[in-house]
Amino acid sequence: MNTAELNILVVEDDDFQRGVMVTMLNTLGVTSIRDAGNGKQAIDIIHDENTQPIDIVLCDLNMPEMDGLEFLRHLGHERRNVAIVIISALGGKLLLSAGKMAKMHGMKLLGVIEKPIMLGQLKELLEKYERTEAKWQQSSTGMNFDLQTILQGIRAKQFEPYFQPKVNLKTGRAVGAEALARWVHPEQGVVSPHHFIPLLEQSANIDELTFLMLEKSAVAAHALQEAGYSITISVNLSLVSLAAHTLADHITQIVREAKVDPSSIVLEITESAAMTDAAQALENLARLCMNGFTLSIDDYGTGYSSLQQLTRIPFNELKIDQSFVKDFSDNETSRIVVESSIDMAHKLQLKSVAEGVETQQDWDNLKAAGCEIAQGYFIARPMDLRAFHDFLAIYKSSTGTRGPA
Ligand code: C2E
Ligand code: CA
Ligand code: CA
Repeated sequence: MNTAELNILVVEDDDFQRGVMVTMLNTLGVTSIRDAGNGKQAIDIIHDENTQPIDIVLCDLNMPEMDGLEFLRHLGHERRNVAIVIISALGGKLLLSAGKMAKMHGMKLLGVIEKPIMLGQLKELLEKYERTEAKWQQSSTGMNFDLQTILQGIRAKQFEPYFQPKVNLKTGRAVGAEALARWVHPEQGVVSPHHFIPLLEQSANIDELTFLMLEKSAVAAHALQEAGYSITISVNLSLVSLAAHTLADHITQIVREAKVDPSSIVLEITESAAMTDAAQALENLARLCMNGFTLSIDDYGTGYSSLQQLTRIPFNELKIDQSFVKDFSDNETSRIVVESSIDMAHKLQLKSVAEGVETQQDWDNLKAAGCEIAQGYFIARPMDLRAFHDFLAIYKSSTGTRGPA
C-alpha cells in the first residue's frame, strides 16, 4: 500500500499540535487526513458512511469530554478494523498500559509515541503499517469458523502441534519446545490459534483440542527421544479444563499410551483469577505433579493473583509474558517486571523462561539478568515436526554460548 492511499484520523484536542501532526502527515505523502478535537467527534467521523473507512487513528490520551482511553474502548467494542497509534505527553508507564488496554480490546496497536512527536517516528510507524497490514488482512479476512466446523476439524485430526524451540541462554542448547496448535486446514492452509481457541474455550469444548494436541505432542516426544534428543515438550492447558475431576488421569493416560514418561511433558497453565472451582483445579494440578509432569505458569505478569497461585500450586517453571520481554530493552517498568520475575523464580526454585525473544539485544539482556531459558522468533518460529527435527539436527552441533546468528 502506498501512503497516498491511506486514510488517517488525527484525534487531538490541542489545535496547534493537531495542526503539526496533519502537516507532518502531509509531508510524508498522506493526502486523506481527517481530524477531531475529541473522542466524540472522532467516533462521528468513523461512523460517517460518506467517507472512506479510516485505516489508522492517531490518538492523544489526554482530552476533554471523551478522553483517549474511553475513545479506544468504544473503538474496541465496535471491532473496527483500524490500526491505532497512541500519543501522549504523560510518559512511559501510562502509554504502556494504554497500549495494553488497546491490545486487550483486540485492536491493532501500531505503536505508542511520547510527545513531542517527531517526523521520523511517524514515518517509521507508517512503514510498520505497510509491513503488518498484509499480515492483518490475512488473519482477519475469510477466516471465520463456526464451532461445528472447528469441532469437525478436530475430529478429523486436522490440528497439529507446531513446535517452537526453547533454548538454554547459557549453553545455547535446545532444551525443549512448546507445542502450539495449528489447524492445517485442507483449503485455508495453516490457521493460527486465535481463530479457534476463544470459541472452543467459551463453549467448553477446549478439551477435545487439548487431548488431540497432547496425543500428537506425546507421539512427537517419543519419536524425538528415539532419535536421541533429550528434550521436553510443553503443551498448553486451559484453566477451564481443570474443573473436570478426571482431567489429571486422562492426561496421564494419553502420555503413557505414547510410551512417554510424564517428566518429558511440561503443562503450561495461564494464571488467572477466574478459576471457577479452585479446589478441583488444585487437585488436578497436585495429581499431575504427583504423576511426574512439570507444571509451568504461563503468561506470568498478566494475571491477577500471581503470588498467591505460586504458593498454592506445585509449579516448576515460570514463563514471563512476552509483552514484558518485548519492552524489556527500552521500558523501565517492563525491565523491572522481568528482572523481579527472574529473581523470584530463582528464589522459589522455579525455572525462568522468557517468551517473545525477538532480538539479539533481548537475548543479551535476558542472559545478563540471569534468565535460564529463552523462546522466541530470534531463535525460531513455531514449525512442524519435520522442520523441528531438522532444526535439532543443525542446532545440536552448534553449542556456542551465543544465540543463533
Ligand atoms: P502462548 O501460550 O503465550 O504462546 C506463545 C505465542 O507467542 C505463540 O502464538 C507464539 O507463536 C508466539 N510467539 C513466540 N515467539 C514470539 C516472538 O518472538 N514474537 C512474537 N510476536 N510472538 C511470538 P500462537 O502460536 O499464535 O498461540 C497463541 C496462543 O494460543 C498461545 O499463547 C496459547 O495461549 C494459545 N494456544 C496455542 N496452542 C494451544 C493449545 O494447544 N491449547 C490451548 N489451550 N491454547 C493454545
Ligand atoms: Ca504457552
Ligand atoms: Ca504468552
